[in-house]
Amino acid sequence: MSLLRAFIAIDIPPEIKQAISSQTASLRKESGRVVRWVNVENIHLTLKFLGEISASSLELLTQAIQSECAQTAPFTVSAENLGCFPNLRRPRVLWIGLVVPPGLNRLQRQVEASTARLGYAPEDKPFAPHLTIGRVREQAAPEEIQALRSMLEQTTIASLGTFTVKKVHLYKSDLKPEGPIYTRLASARLKEQENK
Ligand code: ATP
Ligand code: MG
Repeated sequence: MSLLRAFIAIDIPPEIKQAISSQTASLRKESGRVVRWVNVENIHLTLKFLGEISASSLELLTQAIQSECAQTAPFTVSAENLGCFPNLRRPRVLWIGLVVPPGLNRLQRQVEASTARLGYAPEDKPFAPHLTIGRVREQAAPEEIQALRSMLEQTTIASLGTFTVKKVHLYKSDLKPEGPIYTRLASARLKEQENK
């Protein structure tokens, strides 16, 4: 049986990636090797991490995503702020925050529920919409973490822009030492807006 690593995500337009890239440039440069930075091209909003799936389940998964999306109107998201999980004292994942309307939270819950019906493990953490931009290396020394913490405290991020979400994609992820390679497997369009 052929298996692939898959996730469901929303793409970020190039101008938002560009804004993230320029506003985090000095942080990227000065943080040195303590952070494994995400390739800007790869920045995305994950709706659901599926893990290893069998190729034969692609059709059902695509149908599930398309039917949830067909019931969701397009919505606007705004990208702002820099933060980290779990907290600044123990930074592990560096992110750009997203301010999202209830429509996105609803879509995420529906995707979660319909993938659970197909047998995919439910997410144990509450949904916190964010764009992962870097991951702190496990081997980082306490002094390196301390240096990173002060850089994070000193970095201020202006608004990074807003964008309208009209599509959701199913991606395959091939993990490589130089970073993951994402390949789009299927797409779903959000409901067309009715003219009023
Ligand atoms: P790398 O693992 O090399 O750092 P990556 O995390 O971008 O790269 P994947 O691990 O394939 O690539 O993850 C794909 C997407 O799913 C990413 O948005 C990632 O944050 C998310 N993800 C990965 N593992 C999990 C998990 N266990 N729970 C929730 N989301 C996950
Ligand atoms: Mg990962």
